[in-house]
Amino acid sequence: MEFYRVIVDAGKRKRYACGCFTEITEYKRRACAVCGKERVTPNYDKMFEDKAWNMKLLLDRNYYADFIFSQVRGIVSEKAKKVLSENFSNAVDFGDIEMVSQRDIPSSFLKYYRGMCGSKNTKLIVNDPPQYYRLLLKKGAVLDFIRSGVKKVSSCKVCDYVEYDIPFELIGDSSRIYITGSTWEHYDLFNVEGMGNTMFCTERFISVYNVNNLTGLMFQPIQSV
Ligand SMILES: [Zn+2]
Repeated sequence: MEFYRVIVDAGKRKRYACGCFTEITEYKRRACAVCGKERVTPNYDKMFEDKAWNMKLLLDRNYYADFIFSQVRGIVSEKAKKVLSENFSNAVDFGDIEMVSQRDIPSSFLKYYRGMCGSKNTKLIVNDPPQYYRLLLKKGAVLDFIRSGVKKVSSCKVCDYVEYDIPFELIGDSSRIYITGSTWEHYDLFNVEGMGNTMFCTERFISVYNVNNLTGLMFQPIQSV
């Protein structure tokens, strides 16, 4: 079985829009009483997976891919949502997003955004963006920690904090990522514990992606043992 790491296609001739959730700054950082790590409360993953929360998202330019990326995870277009639901219903779930226009963003957030991304990019934030959805995936295989060179540095049962030491080579070179093939749960798109929000997929996923002319992703082969 061949597996691939899913990476962002930022756009070749023209840059695709990226997303930014406008409410994340309102979440407070708090130190855990047990391990002392500062965490956003609730943590990003839990926020992102909370289907009840209608998160607010801005887009930073008007060239739209089917898969776009925000500070948290993958976001998909209406078309990609339909294709994924029809082909990979066991692997994917979706959360709602409230798309926000430049004109409706509070000035306090625009000020924060300008500080982070500059005033030129702030002016590019679009009005009336198309609808996108949060893409929710499951853990679908186990990383071969030893072969991949990943170590669990620390973890905390109280705040769910887990820190992995992910070597630089692994981030830059997908061919050094090993997953244990026998642990694959037969999802065509999935996450792997220890690799955060990185998405992995099968050839079947790539073929559906290509047949439907979806945009915004690239694929790099990884190792499976
Ligand atoms: Zn803790």
